[in-house]
Amino acid sequence: MRIDLHTHSNVSDGTDTPTALVRRAQNDGVAVIALCDHDTFDGLPEADEAGRRFGVVVLPGIEISTHVGQTEVHLLGFGADPWAEPLRSELARMRASRLDRLPKMLAKLHELGMDLEIDDVRRQMLGASSAGRPHVADALVAKGYVKNRDEAFAKYLDSTGPAYVPRETLELSRAIDLVHGARGACVIAHPWIRGTRDVVTAALLGSLKREHDLDGIEVEHPDQDQQVRALLFDLGGRLGLIRTGGSDYHGSGKTGHDLGTCVTRPSALHELANRILARGGSIGGVETIMGRL
Ligand code: AMP
Ligand code: ZN
Ligand code: FE
Ligand code: FE
Repeated sequence: MRIDLHTHSNVSDGTDTPTALVRRAQNDGVAVIALCDHDTFDGLPEADEAGRRFGVVVLPGIEISTHVGQTEVHLLGFGADPWAEPLRSELARMRASRLDRLPKMLAKLHELGMDLEIDDVRRQMLGASSAGRPHVADALVAKGYVKNRDEAFAKYLDSTGPAYVPRETLELSRAIDLVHGARGACVIAHPWIRGTRDVVTAALLGSLKREHDLDGIEVEHPDQDQQVRALLFDLGGRLGLIRTGGSDYHGSGKTGHDLGTCVTRPSALHELANRILARGGSIGGVETIMGRL
């Protein structure tokens, strides 16, 4: 059974609608997906409905932007209640900050000689409740300034790029507490990709496990090579963390992240679902397959 616990839709910066994402999972023989849009739960009702229609199991998820010091770290939340406070209002604040920075980025691009209006970005955001740099990238592509998202990031939008503007994020341990407060389980996304490995140390993971009851880490991810995955698998085992995997699928918005390229073992999903249930959260369609995991 192929289980992909990290995917995005056009409700944030993916390119498939939640329904199209679920159809693709059915087509590609991926039995279980978790929709983890950036800082929003808004795609989950549609994904859940499509899951029932197309016979794909959908686990409700989210990918929350957090920081440790100055470093951005992503946190996957599974099974959390979208209406629970204060998580709900904190996410709303982060989405507002995603919008607030758009004019600032456009001003920087203008200084660099590129003419983009806010409407050019909005056109790329149809269906999205969470705005991201990829939407600015798409607007740059539409205007012919760059070939694709990769070039837009490499030239202008990367955190070291000339058009980068930071936005608000939550402190990592606080985000973990908020997800737990919303009855969900927490998995640190791609902990050892470039830029985060020196920050998400074994010591930090250990203390997050002890002091904040961190549930797991994402081991299988396309941007972590086999050696990193082996080390993380080992470390997660020693710390008693659930070890998940997912493709970080973004539709045509990101290459090398095809649906199902990285997967979660059924036993790990079983553990994760049990932790969500123990916290009182929702495991969505996973309920129907618990006996087979
Ligand atoms: P933001 O959410 O505005 O901080 O933008 C970051 C998002 O852009 C991440 O979630 C990535 O999925 C995406 N991203 C980062 N680098 C690239 C790239 N080179 N090509 C396409 N998407 C990217
Ligand atoms: Zn993304
Ligand atoms: Fe991420
Ligand atoms: Fe992601």
